[in-house]
Amino acid sequence: MININYITETLQKLVQINSVNPGLDENGPGEVEIGTYIAERLQEMGIEPMVDELAPGRLNVTGVIKGDGTGRSLMLNAHMDTVGVKGMTEPFSGRIQDGKLYGRGSYDMKGSIAAILGVAKAICESGKSLKGDLILSFVADEEYESIGAESLVKKIRTDDCIVTEPTDLKLCTAHRGFGIWKIHTKGKTAHGGNHHLGVDANANMGLLMAELYRWSDRLQKEKIHPLCGAASMHLPLVNGGRSLFVYSHECEIHVERRTIPGESREEIEQDIKKLLNEIARDYPGFEASMELVIWRSPYEIEENCSIVKRVADSLEKVTDEIPEFIGHTWWEDSAIFGDSGIETVILGPKGGGIHEDVEWVEMESVRELAGVIWDLCLDK
Ligand SMILES: [Zn+2]
Repeated sequence: MININYITETLQKLVQINSVNPGLDENGPGEVEIGTYIAERLQEMGIEPMVDELAPGRLNVTGVIKGDGTGRSLMLNAHMDTVGVKGMTEPFSGRIQDGKLYGRGSYDMKGSIAAILGVAKAICESGKSLKGDLILSFVADEEYESIGAESLVKKIRTDDCIVTEPTDLKLCTAHRGFGIWKIHTKGKTAHGGNHHLGVDANANMGLLMAELYRWSDRLQKEKIHPLCGAASMHLPLVNGGRSLFVYSHECEIHVERRTIPGESREEIEQDIKKLLNEIARDYPGFEASMELVIWRSPYEIEENCSIVKRVADSLEKVTDEIPEFIGHTWWEDSAIFGDSGIETVILGPKGGGIHEDVEWVEMESVRELAGVIWDLCLDK
């Protein structure tokens, strides 16, 4: 049986360990302390932890409960890092009030780590045998560059995966991706009075920015996914020119394009190039180049995959409600697992204040999450 007190105490301890991602805050300690704590808990259960150091201060922890080989293998995944704590009055308290446990990472996603550990402990103590292997994976760096998940997929084989990111106990089967491109326009410096010599890189970029703005408007009407909503685009950074009284020699923008399942990097790059060519045709001084900064693919799993059906069944059994299928508008590690051929869904607890100043998780939903995983592991 699942020990609720164990899950609550473990979650309190996990929240009290600072695991802020050093990529987001230079004072963030990373995952060594929290990873060591999790590895010790696995050891206590009789599961041999594998600790994989990815970089100084950064690690993944995994453990396996072997099945008898007659069923599909399942990985339960959670990230150990959190975003920063600036602006929070009690980031590491783990205080419980009115059924809510407070602190940075309680909802995103230490509640899920505690639920996974609670289920693993219950399975080990029950002596029950599983059909497929159960892989417990706790990764680094989801909040920044996902070095944890990237490293894990190269080392682990599993049929199915549940990424236990917060979903308010709804079943998330799709999420958007994103691509970021840097675009430069090239100008020619000249004295501000020598208009016949200068080429204005900033004004040329303005031509492009106006077109991108119209395009972002069209995306919201034309590229819509039933679970994830519309694709979108914005320009988070613009930087151009050198000084007053000088024609700008160069302008650089970053284009952030949020994609829906089915969209490809090649297709978007072609669309941007087409736009650059059209502007160059109309404005002969226009010269631009583009470069990909980062691509994270969107993700979607078919509803008839066995992991979707099995999680939906267990969710309905535990909550006594018809599961609601949702999509997330943000990117998650699930795309990395999905792209490597692992059938992946996202299911996590209820809570609030994700990346905000007051974050909490509803303890009842952490218990329900553990119940769903327990049912899924033992019944199927
Ligand atoms: Zn998260």
